[in-house]
Amino acid sequence: MDYNFRMTEKEFIPKIALSIHAHPDDQEFTVAGTLARWVQAGSTVMSVIVTSGDAGSNEPARGVDYKPELARLREIEQSAACSLLGIQETIYLRYPDGELEPTMELRKELTRLIRKYKPEAVVTGDPQSVFYGNGYINHPDHRAAAQAALYAVFPSAETRLIFTDLLEAGYEPHKVKRLYVHGSEKSDTWVDISGTIDVKISALKKHASQLGDWDPAQMICEWAAEEGKDHGLQYAEAFKVMINEQEQPES
Ligand SMILES: [Zn+2]
Repeated sequence: MDYNFRMTEKEFIPKIALSIHAHPDDQEFTVAGTLARWVQAGSTVMSVIVTSGDAGSNEPARGVDYKPELARLREIEQSAACSLLGIQETIYLRYPDGELEPTMELRKELTRLIRKYKPEAVVTGDPQSVFYGNGYINHPDHRAAAQAALYAVFPSAETRLIFTDLLEAGYEPHKVKRLYVHGSEKSDTWVDISGTIDVKISALKKHASQLGDWDPAQMICEWAAEEGKDHGLQYAEAFKVMINEQEQPES
């Protein structure tokens, strides 16, 4: 098997893409350069934000009363980021931040959205990634959102008799052609974001409630340079891409 074939094939630009993430700012830290590149190439991109980040403050003065206010603020920040990236629609599911589970309810809701928007590509995280180096334990919400998204793509979205209440409500099955998984230890596809890293950084900076005075530009450039260096790219985002284009045999 030629493991390099994805490097040499013509670049895949989805007509429609759905980006699914747990928190406001996840998308901007990880895949925003790719989404902006696709938008510039003519894609229609939608974002699904599963929680509204209402646990995203450790200020001692802030209590439980602050959570709805913080969620509203973070949705405003996320919508501003999406607007900069050219994302057409942002959908907030408003699950509680920090308590996300990959439930059947969440899988069904993501299935409904996939059947509604009919993306060629879904972009999400890696549900298997727990440890990054020695310094970062992956947030369980990230893994939960990614797992629900993964199994919404396959088998739920494309299988007619899974979630038949969706079918009865008019949501016909839809087959997603490619699943783009970021944060994987087994990346096999590198998207050139040299032309969109600036808008990625600008979009990330819209999450002011999370960044405070910190300027993320240097770190984002270092990450993207590291991903690109072995692939002839100044700046890149890395993915494991699952290709789901074969027709299922009739059964
Ligand atoms: Zn997050």
